[in-house]
Amino acid sequence: MARIAVVGDGPAGLSAALFLAKNGHDTTVYGDDDSLVEFAELHNYLGRPDADGTAFMDTARQQATDAGATLVSSTVVAVDEDDEGFAVTPDEDAAPVQVDYVVIAGGKESQSLAARAGAEVADGAVVVDGDAQTTVDGLYAAGHLVRPERSQAIISAGWGAAAAIDIISREAGRDVHDWDSPSD
Ligand SMILES: Cc1cc2nc3c(=O)[nH]c(=O)nc-3n(C[C@H](O)[C@H](O)[C@H](O)COP(=O)(O)OP(=O)(O)OC[C@H]3O[C@@H](n4cnc5c(N)ncnc54)[C@H](O)[C@@H]3O)c2cc1C
Repeated sequence: MARIAVVGDGPAGLSAALFLAKNGHDTTVYGDDDSLVEFAELHNYLGRPDADGTAFMDTARQQATDAGATLVSSTVVAVDEDDEGFAVTPDEDAAPVQVDYVVIAGGKESQSLAARAGAEVADGAVVVDGDAQTTVDGLYAAGHLVRPERSQAIISAGWGAAAAIDIISREAGRDVHDWDSPSD
């Protein structure tokens, strides 16, 4: 079981947390419940044709929690790579928490956290590969901070899922799908 810190509790962070926790990983989401979706009325999120943003986020938070993720109310102030993975400082007064992986999903303002941890930022966006991994091994970035000028809720959720599936696959030592069927 890997220890993962998810920084940010919007669609990207909660989507990552849902997959990670559902697959048995120790997943903590740090956030302040202030997603941009709270200001939205969604008519373009497939499967949720008319969702009030606040109701959408309430459902998402509940779904991630039900899967086993721990949601902590805080604004992370530092993510630092070290010999054992990463040290995440949840707020100014808190001691750093040691984790194996970090998914930064705190929107555009969290680009500075990724940069501090050593991730490349170019042309106003955190640079990631197709699995949402930054230029630092084990450090992922998902959602608005990787496409600040082309941001949609469903795209953010997809990036969070991609990060999670990569972590789950790395831990399993093979490619993994998280596929369920009615007979499960
Ligand atoms: C008025 C408005 C209408 C919109 N309408 C639509 C729409 O119709 N359809 C659509 O698809 N999209 C819409 N959007 C865009 C959509 O809200 C974003 O694409 C989406 O919220 C991005 O998700 P995210 O998870 O990447 O980031 P966010 O939703 O921004 O979530 C990031 C979360 O992380 C928190 N955070 C930031 N820094 C830290 C930190 N250091 N530590 C801990 N937590 C942190 C933030 O406070 C926030 O809670 C709209 C946006 C606005 C403002």
